[in-house]
Amino acid sequence: MTQRPPSLLRRLLAPALALTLAGCGLVTDYVIEPGQNTTSGQQAALLAAVPPAHLALHRSLFLADLHADTLLWERDLLVQTNRGHIDLPRMQQGGVGLQVFTLVTDTPRETPNPDPAIDHCIYATSRNLAGLLTVLESRPPRAWFDLRARAFDQAGKLLDAERRSRAPGYAGPELMVVRSAADFSRLLARRAAGEKVVGGVLGVEGAHWVGQDNADEATTRAQVKDLFDLGVRVFAPTHRFDNALGGASEGCSGQGLTQQGRWALLEAERLGMVIDLAHASSATLREAVALLAQPVVVSHTGVQEGCTGVCYRLRNLSDDEIRAVAAKGGLIGVGYWPEAVGPNGVEDILRVMRQVARALQQPAFKAAHPGLDPHAHLALGSDFDGAVETPIDVAGLPALTWAMARGGMTEAQLRQAAGGNACRLLAARLPGGGPAAAAACR
Ligand SMILES: [Zn+2]
Repeated sequence: MTQRPPSLLRRLLAPALALTLAGCGLVTDYVIEPGQNTTSGQQAALLAAVPPAHLALHRSLFLADLHADTLLWERDLLVQTNRGHIDLPRMQQGGVGLQVFTLVTDTPRETPNPDPAIDHCIYATSRNLAGLLTVLESRPPRAWFDLRARAFDQAGKLLDAERRSRAPGYAGPELMVVRSAADFSRLLARRAAGEKVVGGVLGVEGAHWVGQDNADEATTRAQVKDLFDLGVRVFAPTHRFDNALGGASEGCSGQGLTQQGRWALLEAERLGMVIDLAHASSATLREAVALLAQPVVVSHTGVQEGCTGVCYRLRNLSDDEIRAVAAKGGLIGVGYWPEAVGPNGVEDILRVMRQVARALQQPAFKAAHPGLDPHAHLALGSDFDGAVETPIDVAGLPALTWAMARGGMTEAQLRQAAGGNACRLLAARLPGGGPAAAAACR
């Protein structure tokens, strides 16, 4: 059978649509993104104040960050720009060793209540801005409406960046996607040998399609395995609204884990993924920590204590939640943006780090957990490129570690919080990992 030629209308429409979408790509690059992923303008002054002796110490740190949404955007990771917070050249300048790059498929429009005393909640049916962005960025049409396809498309961006960073002629650092403890050991060894290489770990922020429609156990576990096979190693069941796996901190139900959520978390843990409880409701967090055998992370968060004004309590951890996570050996990734920590830039990031340590020094908790080191549960969780304003981009990290040192952290505590703790947890938890792999973390 011969194929009919496309109609005149279709022949005219296809290039017109392509042109329109290409134009939209420029709109996201130059109009939408610059207003979303911003810095507060202090970075140059903050960096200028970092003394050379601290810079030398900073260069010796293994820096790891548990959360960035860079893959949501169309920006090329290999090219240094002044848009957004992360690209490989800026990661190299900031001295980053490892970044968790998160797949974010559904970000409902925020409609804060005008009365700050009344908390709002976010429904799954709120308009999905990640979907709109996927269309505007001219991503493949299969990713426009299907969340799983969108996650796979975003993961493809990181794998593509890895491949291109290894091509001859690229002067920036190589990106190495880390999927196992063996990969991680190689990353650490190559960095220790002075090679220009940075690690990337794939995470998912809201596995909304997993467990849907009252899926049975086999289906739910297979859907988690599908993400593992893609390379995902950090698994956050919920994002900003309740889904088939459980309640979210900004969700409307206040519920905990569903049966599908319990199956999903147990399968993710069994496979060697780290469970991430950022955006989990209190009930989800409590139930997950009780259910799981291994340490969890809360990848990007603030604390409720001292959280006022622009800082958004509902999104943040109570002292009890901090203690529940730490009691199981988990990590609190401290965010950089005002709604998590407050409006005062690096000073507020430090304030939150101190509060995490303080919560873990509560006398009753200390008595129940003798020997627990409060600084062993801190990590960085910037939320870079998560449509937030931060005091620095990734190149500005020396300013943050200088503030941590100036704020009273010992060198050992600084090494832990800046990445040592994250290094140990990932090396222990990634497939093939354990205490021996974690011993390579400094
Ligand atoms: Zn988030």
